[in-house]
Amino acid sequence: MASAYKTLERVRAKLYWDLRENFPLAFRTGNLVTTLHLTPPGDAYPVVGTFYRHVFNVIRDYFESSGSSFEGIIPKRKTILANKVQYADLAVEIVIDSQVVGHIIYDIAHSRWRFRPLYSTVYKMIEKETGFFAKTSLPRLSRGFVIKSGDIISANLPKSDEYIALASRDYRYLGVGVLLKNRRIYVLKSWTRTPYGNLEGDPNWSKVVSVHRQYLEEKKEEAVSFIRSIYEKYKLPVVISFSGGKDSLVTLHLVLEALGNEKVTVLFNNTGIEFPETVEYVKKTADFMGLNLIIANAGEAFWRGFSVMGPPARDFRWCCKVTKFAPTARVLKQIFPDGALSFVGQRKFESVLRARSPRVWQNAWLPGIIAASPIHEWTALDVWLYIFMERLPLNPLYYYGLDRLGCWLCPASEMGEFELAKSVRRDLYERWEKELESFALSHSLGRDWLRLGLWRWVKVPKDISRLAESVQEDNARGATVSWHLLDSMVVFKLENPRQVPTLTKLQNLSHTSKELLESIESISFDEKEITVKLTRRDKSIVEQLERVVIRAFYCVECLECANWCPRGAIRLDKERGGILILEDNCIQCGICNAKCPIAEYTLKLKSSKADKQSRSFN
Ligand code: SF4
Ligand code: SF4
Repeated sequence: MASAYKTLERVRAKLYWDLRENFPLAFRTGNLVTTLHLTPPGDAYPVVGTFYRHVFNVIRDYFESSGSSFEGIIPKRKTILANKVQYADLAVEIVIDSQVVGHIIYDIAHSRWRFRPLYSTVYKMIEKETGFFAKTSLPRLSRGFVIKSGDIISANLPKSDEYIALASRDYRYLGVGVLLKNRRIYVLKSWTRTPYGNLEGDPNWSKVVSVHRQYLEEKKEEAVSFIRSIYEKYKLPVVISFSGGKDSLVTLHLVLEALGNEKVTVLFNNTGIEFPETVEYVKKTADFMGLNLIIANAGEAFWRGFSVMGPPARDFRWCCKVTKFAPTARVLKQIFPDGALSFVGQRKFESVLRARSPRVWQNAWLPGIIAASPIHEWTALDVWLYIFMERLPLNPLYYYGLDRLGCWLCPASEMGEFELAKSVRRDLYERWEKELESFALSHSLGRDWLRLGLWRWVKVPKDISRLAESVQEDNARGATVSWHLLDSMVVFKLENPRQVPTLTKLQNLSHTSKELLESIESISFDEKEITVKLTRRDKSIVEQLERVVIRAFYCVECLECANWCPRGAIRLDKERGGILILEDNCIQCGICNAKCPIAEYTLKLKSSKADKQSRSFN
């Protein structure tokens, strides 16, 4: 965790503010410019559209609940920034007039938005005795300290858990806290007071773009020459991954500038759980730009996977393989059998993983694909300003405050992001919540599992689980196969298989491993049980057998295995469902068994729980 923070700290975006004109700058110029000190990685982006209204509504509600208003405290400017910060759920710091005025937070415990005033806002609240505040007789304030009722000189305290602006005796220290019982206040954060004033001027984003024109042209030139040099180096057909997001839009534009429309294919991966708005936007954009658009469609694969695996989670992301890698690899293999150069809109400020990624790399999940990111060094502000400058058509979902688009039920999302997205597509979430509800009910997962979004983890992190009344152990995910040993016999028990268990199917799938095939003496089928008599009691054989059983009867037809098969020996089994191994073509290399995401994630989950089965071999 500490090293992750260090990585983000190291790549921290450098942003500035023009104090005379009052707007953000991506570069330092002139004397009246200050550096913005944002929480790492500081990848701040413009607050626009409905999200702008949302931010000020949350601020207004906070002040109104104290019987006051934010007028004279927080100026309502046209150019303001938001920067995501670490919190139990979605939290962004809001930058106005070069200052972090506070955080907009989604409070999952109470399912509501909150405003936490900071720095310039606290300074003004104390100065004007506005909003919820407490002036104390204490010489200083420090984080974690509890202010007693007797230490409070004057105050306007909330009846609920709203944040309170705090000041020490001589106002040298300011802070923010929350009310405890008996009129005591817990100090959440404190700092040394700095006087703040409002800046003059209220320019719009067009003005900001005009100041950045030369800067953006230089960035564009660098990216275009990078694209051309990589293209020359690899001499591979070019494909652009266009997700419908802002980063891929800019990448698309840069690659077209560098290579022209003729040389490129645009690939959109429709995971089947994209916002319908994104699908429509991608098609319209491709049409408008006259692009050769190929769609890697996962169809209903997610829902088939859900019926076997349960909801995906941050630590159980079977969904990416099934809905992204499998259809994308299939399409790329068909169109570019000898490999391709894929340009993607990946930036180092987005995550620790991306901060550590090089600008050009070999894609581990897409064989033969070299990936390159022309905008690796671009900040979110660079991307937004470039879009404004080039007047590129932006996915309308960004105007709702959705900073990261993609699968609408992605478990990596915060609950606050789902809340923002619900304002656009409530219907999608109603369906998802129903699915989750019935899953929770049938596995006795408790009401917090849904309410707090605990479904987003198999192993719930401590900062989230402490918000729950109780956290039930989540043993509900993965293909429901279990087995036990009886001497040299393995007895498999199957619950809710997707394919009807038959001997033919199991024999067909067993063909993928020579070692396994040679170790099977006999197979017998009972109602829900399969008994396999082995020639030897061997852990690795049983593990191979378990993979084969999962593939034979819980296949979700993603065809990821077929992508990896060196002999093209895997087909969909039209008669029985699932897949069919063309035994004459199969060389029994076993790759397909290793690459099946349903088997892989089910077994990974089991091994992380060190279940009794693996211990029974000791
Ligand atoms: S067996 Fe193949 S098609 Fe079926 S789920 Fe596994 S990888 Fe997908
Ligand atoms: S990957 Fe292909 S050749 Fe290898 S075992 Fe599987 S089906 Fe056979």
